[in-house]
Formats: sequence, structure tokens, C-alpha cells
Amino acid sequence: MRYCIFSDVHGNLEALKAFFEHAESREQLKYIFLGDIVGYGPNPNECVELLRNRTEHIIMGNHDEATFEENVDIESFNPFARKVILWTRRALKQEHREFLRSLQYEIVHNGIRFVHATPFQPDRWHYIFTSEDAEINFRSFTEQVCFVGHSHQPIIILQDPAGEVDSLDPQTYRLEPNHQYIINDGSIGQPRDGSPKACYIIYDSETRKVEFHRVAYDFTITQQKMKDEGIPEYLCKRLQYGR
Ligand code: ZN
Repeated sequence: MRYCIFSDVHGNLEALKAFFEHAESREQLKYIFLGDIVGYGPNPNECVELLRNRTEHIIMGNHDEATFEENVDIESFNPFARKVILWTRRALKQEHREFLRSLQYEIVHNGIRFVHATPFQPDRWHYIFTSEDAEINFRSFTEQVCFVGHSHQPIIILQDPAGEVDSLDPQTYRLEPNHQYIINDGSIGQPRDGSPKACYIIYDSETRKVEFHRVAYDFTITQQKMKDEGIPEYLCKRLQYGR
């Protein structure tokens, strides 16, 4: 099975279309989306529609949850994100809000785990900052690999049979037997690893090979739409820096 794994679109329709164009030139991919369709970007409705039509499995992200969960503590979001969440709540059509509400927090498919943030408490939106964080997470799932999004920074984290944790920059890589992995797919709509290009993964479960792909798109169109909607300048700017 060849999986196409992507996440963190954040209402960026130009990046999402460029991604689909790039990925759909390859045959027979199973699409799995790891959360955050909305938040930050100017086209939440269009992104929900496009994703729903073309993706078999869609997981809930924290920004998706914040659109319908009025009790969600949006104080935990940075001030820019908070402003856009309020804007997104107003902009989002009711049927799309209901769709976001229906999403699940984790999926296990064919012995592979998929979540938005972390395999440990996948509905609590943790980050993995330290090797201790990684160890807690490796203890909390039994599959060989868990794919995650959330940080917008593509990375391969691994634990060897002796329990040592290490990490690798995104690269074409074949999973080693007896090692366990947490692999981050980066972000389609708001990369934060220094490149403005949309990032996604293709993973072949037969050969256990993971590949990272980058796709350029015209972010000036997205930036202009964001300005027109009054979305904070800082969020517009970061699209061009990938930070
Ligand atoms: Zn995100």
C-alpha cells in the first residue's frame, strides 16, 4: 500500500491545490490527512470541500476542534492564531463545522498509526520537544510507526532496540526492523522549517520506504487574500519565509 500523508493545510487553498496536482500525478495512493484543515488561512470552506472530496481518511487537528468546541480553551493558542480562530468560526459554513466535529483523533490502518499531534493523548495537542517527550510517546503505541503533523516541522524520530532515541532530517529513508518511529509530515499550508514549499510524505508499506516531497506554489495569492480578510500581517509574512 502506498500512502500519501499530509497535514496542516490551514485554509491555504493555493497550497492544497498545488499539493493535489503534484501527488495525483502518481498512481494508486491512499490519502491520509493528519489534521488542521482550517486556521490561519483565508479559505476554510473551500479547503474542507476539496479535502472531503479527495481524501479517504481525515483526522481532527486542534484548529479544527477549536472551530466548533466553544468551550475549547483558545487561550492556549498564540494571539495571532486566536484572532484567526474567531474569524474562522464566523466564516465557516454550518455543514463544514459539523463535518469537522465528526472527525476522529486517531486512526490505525494496516498496522500503521496516524494522529495529529502525538500518539500519547492524541486529543491533548502535545508537542515532542525533548528525548524524554519522545520516550513517553514511544511507550504509548505498539505499531512500528506513527505518523504525526502539528509542529509543521518534518522530522524522523526513532528509537532503537536498546531504547536510544535519535532524530533524522527529512530524507528518503527505509525503516529498520526492530526500530520504532514517529514521523512528522511537515505542513501543506504553513511550513515552518525554513522553506515556503508545501511538504508531504509518501510511505510505501511494502518496502517500508518513506519519501518527503516539496511543492512550490504562488503564496502571494494567499497572502493577498489574507490581507483582504484582515488576517494579521505576521501570518501573511511567514508564508514566504516558511517560519
Ligand atoms: Zn497546524
